[in-house]
Amino acid sequence: MPGELPPAGATWPERRRRALADPAMRAAVAKSTRSLAVKKEAVFATYPAAEAMRKRAVIARRGSLARVDALLDELTRRVEARGGHVVRAAGPADVGRYVLDVARRRGVQRVVKSKSMATEEIALNEQLENAGLHVRETDLGEYIIQLAGERPAHILVPASHKTRQQVRALFDEEAAACAVDPPVGDATPELTAFARRQLRADFLAADMGISGGNFLVAETGTLVLITNEGNGRMTTSLPRVHIAVVGIDKIVATWADLADLLQQPALSGTGQRLSTYTTFITGPRREGELDGPEEFHLVLLDNGRHELLGTEFVDILACIRCGACLNVCPVFRTIGGQAYGTMYSGPIGVVLTPLLGGLERAPELPKSACALCYACADACPMEIDLPRHILALRRTEVERGMEPWSDRLTFELWGRFWANPAGFRFTGRIARLGQRVYVRDGRLKGAPGLVGGWTATRNAPPLARESFHEWWARRRASRTGS
Ligand code: SF4
Repeated sequence: MPGELPPAGATWPERRRRALADPAMRAAVAKSTRSLAVKKEAVFATYPAAEAMRKRAVIARRGSLARVDALLDELTRRVEARGGHVVRAAGPADVGRYVLDVARRRGVQRVVKSKSMATEEIALNEQLENAGLHVRETDLGEYIIQLAGERPAHILVPASHKTRQQVRALFDEEAAACAVDPPVGDATPELTAFARRQLRADFLAADMGISGGNFLVAETGTLVLITNEGNGRMTTSLPRVHIAVVGIDKIVATWADLADLLQQPALSGTGQRLSTYTTFITGPRREGELDGPEEFHLVLLDNGRHELLGTEFVDILACIRCGACLNVCPVFRTIGGQAYGTMYSGPIGVVLTPLLGGLERAPELPKSACALCYACADACPMEIDLPRHILALRRTEVERGMEPWSDRLTFELWGRFWANPAGFRFTGRIARLGQRVYVRDGRLKGAPGLVGGWTATRNAPPLARESFHEWWARRRASRTGS
């Protein structure tokens, strides 16, 4: 049914079918992605310094990744010198254990979170909730999808697949559950007013704030947060304890590097020159300061990132999670993010999910969630060659024998027949004969097997009655009279 999430464990074809049968979601995704892509184009067109800055940012990002271990050591020293705690986490369980240890020691019951893909990646909310903590997402989009029991559909705008009416219905339910007044209407200001009222209470009651981080500056041990809502600042300054969970790939060497990078997520993601709030956090509250937490913890998340260093995939670590590749991807624009069935969707998700979680996690994504149109490569401000990575993942699947036997057999036979002219001509003749029952009004319709995917939605022309080789031979014969 439109608007419903695919059931847990739904297959890729089922997820796609559900997405295609949901016109409200598809309209919402098409509208938001188009709007973001247009804004991006406009800001680059009207900001002369943007392109040169972007190029410098690519160099800065790759330079930092080339010496990530040394920079992480420097960062750790700086954070600890300012009274913070730093811990390295290999994967989801390490992060969960550490956060829960701190929570128990500090008597934490209620947690507020600002938007963080790193914590989504490791399902931190579930880990904390299973341990009995109350966790509240405070980014508006994240709040909406938390109430809906979904995962983010877009890396930057997590609830962009929802209409205002769907959001209103969720807020009405929440109001009834909390015995508070519902939103007065479904206009955006009315909906945000409801969320603000609800979240304010969560902020004031929270014992711990958990954030992600857009960048980490090694030379001063500074965490950089870029947001468009004030929730990031509230999360990191109101509760007694602040824990930031940040991927090791977010490290940059210096403030000069950061100066080129700082605007990039906004320029390419939302088409702004700079996001509304930029927050720099260097350790906990110090003597004489009015704001800030008593304790600051920085959890440096690896979760497979280190293994990518020195491989052909290393440039994927330069990703700044701007979402520009999603906004131009014809697959994402058609089926939205939920159909991917993974935390990261769109072109970056097609590459990152198998690289961080193992190719077995989502073998269908590199294989069939990409049309190889190269729009994502053109859109990526960090010049990540996503299509090349997708092809490499496809190659790995074949090398490991992960494709279904039917695919293997099809391509094996295809390869054998087309390896010589006689085989090529033979398959052409068979195809021309076989297509007869499927040609209607001069078009191929309802063809079986692999070809059926094409003919179901396209007006594919049938094969010509005569191949070029046959035509050429006939023409030559008629000229020479033989
Ligand atoms: S891959 Fe590039 S375009 Fe996509 S989210 Fe990352 S930085 Fe942005």
